Amino acid sequence: MSIFSKIIAGEIPAYVVAESNDFLAFLDINPLAKGHVLVIPKKEVDYLFDMDDELYAGLQLFAKIVAKGLKQAVPCIKVGVVVIGLEVPHAHIHLIPVNRVDDINF
Ligand code: 5GP
Repeated sequence: MSIFSKIIAGEIPAYVVAESNDFLAFLDINPLAKGHVLVIPKKEVDYLFDMDDELYAGLQLFAKIVAKGLKQAVPCIKVGVVVIGLEVPHAHIHLIPVNRVDDINF
């Protein structure tokens, strides 16, 4: 079970910012910028591009809705979208509110 599946199951805590039947959005534990959010499918799929088309499209739409809310909650010029997937083998999208590239703590 991935660390993100444990978050979905409520076995480890996370600050959830949005939830639907199929998807969850929560704050990254090690944020690259204030308001850094991870958006994930509740179904355990290792990598983004392993998802079936319907789930993939649903995740993108959910991420778009969360990004719009994030832009208001964390005043910023834009919300950057990053796909990394190096550390946690559970499909996810990073949403990172930024004004300038310097806002990101790489
Ligand atoms: P990636 O797999 O895209 O390289 O990065 C995974 C992301 O998950 C990292 O930004 C890391 O900080 C975040 N992360 C790893 N473990 C946890 C956790 O237990 N809780 C939360 N909220 N974020 C986590």
